[in-house]
Amino acid sequence: MLHTPAAFTPLIDPPAHTDRPLTFIFHQGKLLLQAATPTVPDGPLPLDIPASRLHPVGVWNGRYCQAAWADSDALPVDGYAWHNLRSLFGNADEGLLAVAGRASQIADWARTHRHCGACAAPMQRAQGERAYKCTACGHTAYPQICPAMMVLIRKGDHVLLARHTRSTTALYTALAGFLEAGESIEEAVHREVFEEVGLRVHDLRYFHSQSWPFPNSLMLAFTAEYLDGEIRPQAGEIDDARWFGPDDAWPETPTSLSIASELIAAHRPRRDPPRIAR
Ligand SMILES: [Zn+2]
Repeated sequence: MLHTPAAFTPLIDPPAHTDRPLTFIFHQGKLLLQAATPTVPDGPLPLDIPASRLHPVGVWNGRYCQAAWADSDALPVDGYAWHNLRSLFGNADEGLLAVAGRASQIADWARTHRHCGACAAPMQRAQGERAYKCTACGHTAYPQICPAMMVLIRKGDHVLLARHTRSTTALYTALAGFLEAGESIEEAVHREVFEEVGLRVHDLRYFHSQSWPFPNSLMLAFTAEYLDGEIRPQAGEIDDARWFGPDDAWPETPTSLSIASELIAAHRPRRDPPRIAR
């Protein structure tokens, strides 16, 4: 699971001196990396980026980090390459990925809020907070973070795993879904569980949360105990949903740096080792 590195401090204004900043440049979900290391550009920018597109992210290991976006993924100069951010998960330094996850959300927010969503006038950066303010009507836009829930349902020594229809692999995972406006996280868990598999649950227990920058989710993970109902997979959403116990063949489950992999691994049913008679 991805965590913000301990040696990271967020910033909304650039520091007075920005010697050799680390610049996280994005184009459509791809991050520009120096091919040899691989790390982000750490000096003069390898492509033309207007200063208005440079946004403070924070200080990581004493280095100032900024986010930006590019108009195209034409390779700027030799020695650089674009990498799909998602494909880097599990395949690059975790500190770099955590800062890149923040930077990608800031860059994407900045790219999509240059004009006011209410009156279409140009927006400008607000003072003292990470926000854009409309120059005409005063509408303020903050980075958008979309809460989502994930839940692993337990029934005795079994857990419920499901395969999604949109999944391109045979992966089984915990149930998950986005919150609707006006809903509490607990209400979302109960609603999604009933919609996706027709079950009712109780005894929700918080597990962990994780920022998921594809594009801007905050995933809050829970376990819940089965209450009642028969599994009824939601058409068009869930291909298959089953109880898996300690004696069942374990399906392919998520790996990499996702919270799903930790939630499932932490609650995987296992046979207790036989007791040794004394
Ligand atoms: Zn406006």
